[in-house]
Amino acid sequence: MAGIVIVGAGQAAASLAARLRALGHTGDLAIIGDEPVPPYQRPPLSKGYLLGEMPLERLALRAPAFWADQGVSLHLGQPVTAIDRAARTVSFGGRTLPYDQLALTTGARPRRLPPALGGDLPGVFAVRSLADVDAMAPLFRPGARLLIVGGGYIGLEAAAVASKRGLRVTLIEAAPRILGRVASAKTADWFRALHRSHGVDLREGTGLDRLLGETHVTGALLADGTRIPADFVILGIGVLPETSLAEAAGLTVIDGIALDELGRTSDPAIWAAGDCASVPAGKARLRLESVGNAIDMAECVAANMLGAGQPYVPKPWFWSDQYDVKLQIAGLNTGHDRVVTRPGAGTGISFWYYAGDRLLAVDAANDPRAYMTGKRLIEAGRSPDPAAIADPATDLRALA
Ligand SMILES: Cc1cc2nc3c(=O)[nH]c(=O)nc-3n(C[C@H](O)[C@H](O)[C@H](O)COP(=O)(O)OP(=O)(O)OC[C@H]3O[C@@H](n4cnc5c(N)ncnc54)[C@H](O)[C@@H]3O)c2cc1C
Repeated sequence: MAGIVIVGAGQAAASLAARLRALGHTGDLAIIGDEPVPPYQRPPLSKGYLLGEMPLERLALRAPAFWADQGVSLHLGQPVTAIDRAARTVSFGGRTLPYDQLALTTGARPRRLPPALGGDLPGVFAVRSLADVDAMAPLFRPGARLLIVGGGYIGLEAAAVASKRGLRVTLIEAAPRILGRVASAKTADWFRALHRSHGVDLREGTGLDRLLGETHVTGALLADGTRIPADFVILGIGVLPETSLAEAAGLTVIDGIALDELGRTSDPAIWAAGDCASVPAGKARLRLESVGNAIDMAECVAANMLGAGQPYVPKPWFWSDQYDVKLQIAGLNTGHDRVVTRPGAGTGISFWYYAGDRLLAVDAANDPRAYMTGKRLIEAGRSPDPAAIADPATDLRALA
């Protein structure tokens, strides 16, 4: 019997399936994932799990019994290889499964370096899956030399964990500064100082010529001719939306699987959610890579698959843990023309992004009050006077 089939068994899939059942979908429900494990959370892969402080069981997004209790068939370790839109079936592992409605939650895949640059040498890792992190775990020995390529959140989190575990860490960023794509120069300055204070050799404006080694990576040749020895390398150079299945099926793809405001693809029987999908945002499109987005979008899409007809309105938020710092981000800073710094209590600090007088986003480091206040204000479309924000005497509770 046909029903709903979800392709990809990650964060969005788990929320989508749970919400479908919670909203009363009693028909067949299957999740097909290419990883061999039930849906798990990825953020700890570059934080607590990599640090060795979080056991494997705590990565799981649902208790093991949840799936059977909810009547969800899990097909794991099975890449879906094709969608037949006319027949409404998906193919995997030599079999086909029919669907009435299909949801694609295929996530994103890490950018890799081409083999000609040493990208396929043993000892070169991405940080996307449990398998990636388990494969590099034996190399996390005190004194080992780790080169991290890329100064985004994943690279910086890996640097923090490695330096905490006693590795000697070099991080190179080709752009003029770290966090160039996602945060202000002020936020970057603060995190650069944090990493250097922990002994990370952080080099910006430093391109990679290629990785070196014959049978295993031994280091890197930088664009400026410098050689850096390394026992292993982590690439944190961004991700690409995983759209290959959707493209092969002829669905529209524009920076991710292109959805309408309800979360439907160019085929009315197929929906999508999470990192793999982009939604309309004015005349442009928006694709977010975050847990909050994967959950909210999946829950909205679940409701719409059952006929709710409610547009998905993203409420962006994100976090990053580095050393003893929790960074919390609310809103999207695209289009900002100034950044206001606000000192918080203790080690706390926050950076408030404005376009003219309009508050767009807040980066709050060890300052949960600034984060919560900023998030509430942004979601309510309210913009406090930047001068009041900059003044440490202003009571944020009164603003919210
Ligand atoms: C190391 C790391 C740290 C992160 N830290 C944070 C953080 O601090 N805060 C935050 O908000 N976000 C963080 N993120 C991002 C967050 O984890 C993702 O945005 C979220 O997992 C997206 O959920 P998803 O379901 O769209 O994709 P995923 O969770 O990636 O799930 C997609 C699944 O689909 C599978 N798949 C793909 N193609 C197929 C196919 N053809 N057949 C079957 N299965 C397929 C994939 O293998 C994968 O298992 C982090 C991500 C990583 C990797």
